[in-house]
Amino acid sequence: MKIFTPLPEEYVASALKRGNELLGIKSIPLEDYRIKTVPRGGYGYSPGDKYEYRDHAEFTFPPLFTDCNITNEVLKNHTLYPLTAALGRSRVNTNVTPTSWRIICPDCVVEDSETHGTAYIHRRHVQPSVRVCSIHGAFLLETCPTCMMPISKHEISSLGLCSKKYKNMKRAPNSQQHLYSKFISDLLHYSGKTIPRHVANWCVNAAISVRHGIYDVKEESLILIAKRELDLKIRSTHGSNISDDTFTILAFLGCVTGARYMELITKENSINLLSRELDALRHAFYIKN
Ligand SMILES: [Zn+2]
Ligand SMILES: [Zn+2]
Repeated sequence: MKIFTPLPEEYVASALKRGNELLGIKSIPLEDYRIKTVPRGGYGYSPGDKYEYRDHAEFTFPPLFTDCNITNEVLKNHTLYPLTAALGRSRVNTNVTPTSWRIICPDCVVEDSETHGTAYIHRRHVQPSVRVCSIHGAFLLETCPTCMMPISKHEISSLGLCSKKYKNMKRAPNSQQHLYSKFISDLLHYSGKTIPRHVANWCVNAAISVRHGIYDVKEESLILIAKRELDLKIRSTHGSNISDDTFTILAFLGCVTGARYMELITKENSINLLSRELDALRHAFYIKN
């Protein structure tokens, strides 16, 4: 038996874990919540197949979700899927259900306990590079400040009790990290089709060039900008192996707000203007060199 009654914006694994806690089960197996991407036919280890072309990801779901016919509802409301779709992440390395997810905002714990009768893990906190809560600006915590237990071992249902003693929590309101959390939170509400990968890539790269005034953006510059603006270390920034997390950081470094990114992706005028700005930058670059 499994209990799955997710709260608004709750991460899928959190809802299942709370259900298990009600049944007296302490853990949650990966296969209960992991939503895997299906590789395209003809790629990887299946020689002889016809190459399959598609610019959206396809998924396989744990049996509970297929049996209850709630795969779409779970994908859209309780995973990182909308963010990945907005950013054109359609390849097999796309991860909509990260396995490190046990992280809390102390203010959310207090508020959720009052509003919903329980704390829970929000999906907008689950992306590994998110450090502060997009609503409260509080630093996210991996350890309960009251009982000092790692959140990975803490019962979610008893966080509310511990939160009565939370005090002097660190906050970084209106910081770049706070803006970054808002960027992610905004894109988690995207409800359209997967943006074609080449469109997302072009817009992000062009937006970074224009915002930072660098025509020929090299990996070293991106690493420096990510460190300076967000205090984040990023890994490889090009090729099809770039992770969802790194691409999300790059999208932020170019666009800063979810609204700006969506405008670039969807409005022809904005793309044309960006294109002209990029041309001007290219022109200046070649004159100088
Ligand atoms: Zn919060
Ligand atoms: Zn505690």
